[in-house]
Amino acid sequence: MPDPVQGGILIVDDTPNNLRFLSTTLTEHGYKVRSVTSGQMALTVAQAAQPELILLDIKMPHMDGYEVCQRLKSSSRTQEIPVIFLSALDEVIDKVKAFNVGGVDYITKPFQLEEVLARIENQLDLRRAKAEVQTLNAELEHRVRQRTIQLEHEIAERQRAQDKLLHLALHDSLTGLPNRTWFMKRVGQVLDRARQHGSYLFAVLLLDCDRFKVVNDSLGHLAGDQLLVAVARRIETCLTPGTTLARLGGDEFTILIDDVANLEDAISVAERIQQDLRMPFQLGQYETFTNVSIGIVLGGKQYEQPEHLLRDADAAMYQAKGEGKAGYRVFDSSLHKRAMARLELETDLQRALDRQEFVVHYQPIVSLHDGSLSGFEALVRWHHPRLGMIPPSQFVPVAEETGLVVPIDLWVMRQACHQLRLWQENWERSHPITMAVNLSVQHFIHANLMAEIDDILTETGLSGRSLRIEITESAIMKNAEFATVILEQLKARQIQFSIDDFGTGYSSLSYLHQFPVDGLKIDRSFVSNIQARDQNLKIVQTIIALADTLNMSAIAEGIETHQQLALLQSLGCEYGQGFYFSKPLAADEAADLFQAPQPWPLSS
Ligand code: C2E
Ligand code: MG
Ligand code: MG
Repeated sequence: MPDPVQGGILIVDDTPNNLRFLSTTLTEHGYKVRSVTSGQMALTVAQAAQPELILLDIKMPHMDGYEVCQRLKSSSRTQEIPVIFLSALDEVIDKVKAFNVGGVDYITKPFQLEEVLARIENQLDLRRAKAEVQTLNAELEHRVRQRTIQLEHEIAERQRAQDKLLHLALHDSLTGLPNRTWFMKRVGQVLDRARQHGSYLFAVLLLDCDRFKVVNDSLGHLAGDQLLVAVARRIETCLTPGTTLARLGGDEFTILIDDVANLEDAISVAERIQQDLRMPFQLGQYETFTNVSIGIVLGGKQYEQPEHLLRDADAAMYQAKGEGKAGYRVFDSSLHKRAMARLELETDLQRALDRQEFVVHYQPIVSLHDGSLSGFEALVRWHHPRLGMIPPSQFVPVAEETGLVVPIDLWVMRQACHQLRLWQENWERSHPITMAVNLSVQHFIHANLMAEIDDILTETGLSGRSLRIEITESAIMKNAEFATVILEQLKARQIQFSIDDFGTGYSSLSYLHQFPVDGLKIDRSFVSNIQARDQNLKIVQTIIALADTLNMSAIAEGIETHQQLALLQSLGCEYGQGFYFSKPLAADEAADLFQAPQPWPLSS
């Protein structure tokens, strides 16, 4: 059986004349035509090969056109085929029924050729247009599907790029650890939690590598980087779940321990890390060691800002570092208060010189042979506008650390030299008296000390012989080589020199006899505890003998009682200074001493 012809027009009519006429005419007009004479045949043919259009006679025996049309419409294979009904003029065509069963048009007999062609062409056009719309729709759908896939791909790509950026923004590129930003966010989160659940505790540890700078400077930055990575990896192995390590920058790391029961939990983490870091690190061919100093803070709802935790951990870490390497220290709030007070003092100290808040007091130095005034020691005092009088023991160490001690010392020296010069002009004396000034020597290492001293002497007109410099024994021993240079220069100017607080600084005898020293000031701690037949007495006795041997004078500090004075005199101590004679005095009070002929009548 040949393949049924697809497409074309199917004519269904039981009247052979009609069939022939339509078939011939349509064929002549170029249509492909098939014809059948019954409804049953029409259904069979249409199922086998769908025509593009069916011309269907209504009135037929056995099965009329309406029923044929209904059946065509109920099958999925044929339901789309347009059906034009054919009816005789004298028949009453039930148009409503014709459309209800699925017909699209009708033609009445006898056929008007133009009308038939026009209606057929109309339906075929419509059908073609529908088909075209369908193809376009299908194409569009396909394109939409393609584009959707493409967009999904692009979105995923963009998401990946965004994730990468986010990762970069929150991580340290060297170690791959979370960075400071990430860490602070995380601390913010646990703080929120602490505020919601009052009993919730967490811990922040701040770790700073000891000796890292040494490795970096000696082996180079590349090795330094390697060491940081190795340290990070080793610390990670000490951490339990719920604990996160981040790199703050440089050689500083930080750890957040989520949900700790107590301080001991945090301490045991710190101890474990320090224990593990004791093993050496292999950097290429070098084996090197580093450990960390750790500051620990227990965090809870009392903290308001994440930064405050880091600040306190930092303060504790610095304390740990100050107490020696590879230690840890737990923060307590007194540490913060102390740090704040210290900071305030530093700031105020900066302004004190400009605001002329310093004054110099003068403590007499007395000859223990005859009670005569041999000189003064200039001692600085700070009149703080809010805190009142601050003793040098509290602010000199701060001034030394900040470097402010240099201008302060020079100011005191200028003041004291000027004062002595005034006294010399007012009171001619048989015995020349000296002015002793304290210097914090280590800060003059890079400064132009001698030129400054020369300026002061020239400015005030005081002779070098009248000036005496005091430097503490410990400061000299720390800078022994440099001190030798300074002392030579002082000697060249006839400026005298005493070692202050002698006996406390472990002087090496070999140095001592090299130095051109004029006096040893026996530290107050020996003098105040001096008693007959006791250890201190022997020490003082030894110092006096040493001074005598080296051709220096001994000056006893802190004489407070008559008994101390008597003992010192019996040991042959040359000079003395202390509350027994006088406290440090303001300049006008000190001036009174010049008028008294014998302020301290001693029985020697
Ligand atoms: P120093 O040079 O050993 O000064 C002696 C200290 O002992 C002074 O304390 C003085 O007031 C105190 N003193 C004297 N006699 C007695 C006594 O009988 N009993 C007691 N308890 N104390 C006595 P001050 O003025 O508080 O000075 C403390 C230290 O501060 C000084 O020790 C000195 O090292 C340093 N200092 C003072 N003024 C200056 C300065 O202008 N520059 C530098 N760099 N340091 C200074
Ligand atoms: Mg002194
Ligand atoms: Mg002293």
